[in-house]
Amino acid sequence: MITETVAAHSVSLATARRLPAFIYDLEALRTHAAAVRDALTPGAPEIFYAAKANPDGPILRTLAPFVDGIEVASGGELQHVRGILPNARIAFGGPGKTDEELSLAIELGVERIHVESPHELTRLAQLAHAADRDVDILLRVNLAGERSGVALAMSGPFGMDPELIGACRSILASAPRVRLRGIHAHLASGLDADAMIRQSAEILAWARPWLAAAGIAGPAEYNLGGGQAVNYADPQNVFDWASYGKQIAALASPNEVLRIEPGRAISVYAGWYVTQILDIKQAHGEWYAVLRGGTMQLRTPVTKQHNQPSVILPLPDTSGPSVEGEAVTYVGQLCTPKDVFARRVPTDRIQVGDVVAFAMAGAYGWNISHHDFLMHPKPEFAYLDRA
Ligand SMILES: *Cc1c(COP(=O)(O)O)cnc(C)c1O
Repeated sequence: MITETVAAHSVSLATARRLPAFIYDLEALRTHAAAVRDALTPGAPEIFYAAKANPDGPILRTLAPFVDGIEVASGGELQHVRGILPNARIAFGGPGKTDEELSLAIELGVERIHVESPHELTRLAQLAHAADRDVDILLRVNLAGERSGVALAMSGPFGMDPELIGACRSILASAPRVRLRGIHAHLASGLDADAMIRQSAEILAWARPWLAAAGIAGPAEYNLGGGQAVNYADPQNVFDWASYGKQIAALASPNEVLRIEPGRAISVYAGWYVTQILDIKQAHGEWYAVLRGGTMQLRTPVTKQHNQPSVILPLPDTSGPSVEGEAVTYVGQLCTPKDVFARRVPTDRIQVGDVVAFAMAGAYGWNISHHDFLMHPKPEFAYLDRA
């Protein structure tokens, strides 16, 4: 699965003693984003990339031509994305927005604000009135529904129960600066194409009559969320964008706007966390390879409790302990038993000095990691692209 370019670059960083490193394969990202784009009928739905998956500048710039906009989840992300892509359409969501963040969104003219509670709507209305500016919003709904089997169900204070959303109508009635454009829902992560379509149909079945009754100006908008599945146990098993594209186009109606905001499924495959084996030993019957760096730089396998997929790149002139034909647990340099990248990985032969390249490190990797823990040196960031 590793490309020759990524492998060659990994080995040259190892030779230059510059590991660990994140390698972002921008050409692979471009190819993937173009394939996603091609699988979807233009505008049915629009794609807003969820910046929190990976807000790295070159990643955002590479994605920009293939997406309709960017979804941000904080004032920090908002300023960051505006700085990197000044002309991008931006949707601003997330629970617990402060007055400062809402004012920033009003001042920067964010295209859509996803409102998460009646109290937030009241504050937004006051701030828009005080700023003498119009704002366009979607109300975020939290539908109950059956979500077992998903990687992450958004249970908790995300959006509003249908009963609570009803309270927004009277607030809107006395908020002339706030224009209701539609409904937003992001209910779960880790859905395959069919499950995603079932969930989208469920959202539309609730939201269409609700919006029709509320009466809005302009075409109704439905943001159906992100959460398209990726499979860390089987990296080749990618979300079926072609099937999803056909089915979502069939759900679309004229005179309305559908929108999705995927993050992980867009950027995860383009990132590699590459490091090197420092030590190999047996402890209480288990084989361990201790790697330079650790999960303070790639927290993903700890948070999601999976084995991060990996490839071994042997270096020709390594010396030191080796092991052959054993199941090896890959750990980092942290002084905690939780610092595990992958457990009991079958290996042919590994030796101290060999390079370990962890795949699927392009989303919720570096940016969710607690990288100051133990104060090890920061990784390098390398960007591969067409010459
Ligand atoms: C995190 C998040 C997304 C992106 O989810 P992925 O699983 O990365 O696709 C989209 N919308 C909202 C509101 C989110 O919180």
